[in-house]
Amino acid sequence: MPNSTCTFCSTDAIYTRENEGVSFCSKCLRQAVEEKVRKTITSNDMLEHDDRVAVGVSGGKDSLSLLRILVKLETRYPNSTITAISVDEGIKGYRDEALRIARKACEQLGVRHVVVSYRDLFGTTMDELSGMHLRQTPCSYCGVFRRKAINRAAAMIGATKIATAHNLDDEIQTVLLNMLHGDPYRAIRSGPVLRDPRGKFLPRIKPLCEIPEKQVVMYAYLNGFDFQTVACPHGHEALRNDIRNFLNQMEQKHPGTKFTFQSSAKRLRELTARTMQVSQLNECAKCGDPTPNQLCEACLMLEAITA
Ligand code: SF4
Ligand code: ZN
Ligand code: ZN
Repeated sequence: MPNSTCTFCSTDAIYTRENEGVSFCSKCLRQAVEEKVRKTITSNDMLEHDDRVAVGVSGGKDSLSLLRILVKLETRYPNSTITAISVDEGIKGYRDEALRIARKACEQLGVRHVVVSYRDLFGTTMDELSGMHLRQTPCSYCGVFRRKAINRAAAMIGATKIATAHNLDDEIQTVLLNMLHGDPYRAIRSGPVLRDPRGKFLPRIKPLCEIPEKQVVMYAYLNGFDFQTVACPHGHEALRNDIRNFLNQMEQKHPGTKFTFQSSAKRLRELTARTMQVSQLNECAKCGDPTPNQLCEACLMLEAITA
């Protein structure tokens, strides 16, 4: 329960950060979230004054919050541009609703909106794929295809950076998920900024990576966003759900657990950064995209589906 008054302005509080014992009213919470994002951007050198930023916008609370905050910050960088990119995975009754929300938000914010679809890029949809007997979960395919789709759209509009709306909870869930999948390299490769030292992929930035999911939900709610709340019918990532529940229980019993876990992952990343080898990249024999193998992951998946 929040303490009764805001720590900063003494009006009624609506939220308390248990680990710090700090309470916020609606206005101060929104300001605190925006300020934290600004600091994350600055301390990680995420943006240059003339960046052309492609923002992944799904129509959910995270991406709409990110878009709004970046648009607000953009006023300080008159030479930069922001374009929203939405991916239509072909999920009836789910994505079409989210795309409508994304389109409306972009109109309101005056942001150019580009939509790319799995149908156009890969000749299939998630609804079709989920009806097949696949070796991996639909989300595994969807994740690989989405990354590629956003890369394609960002290249198409001449972007210099890709911004995605992963929040703190997403980030630490992914670290633990990769550990439990036996892939420690992938677990520590992630981070606030992903730069390809070979310069083949656009840098990816995650400005919300230090904001807990709960605060993003409140930010979206307090700003009156119309965001999508229904779940994807194909999303049954059982392990991720268990990890989410586990981390939420830990946070409730031991406030500050999530931040501590994130800073441990950061230190581990710094320790291993010097010893990690950078693999050579080839051109994918099918689509020409950079890949350490002969075929990129998406083309390998598409080949397995059509075999
Ligand atoms: Fe794709 Fe899985 Fe997300 Fe659905 S839940 S949109 S299948 S990644
Ligand atoms: Zn206040
Ligand atoms: Zn390929």
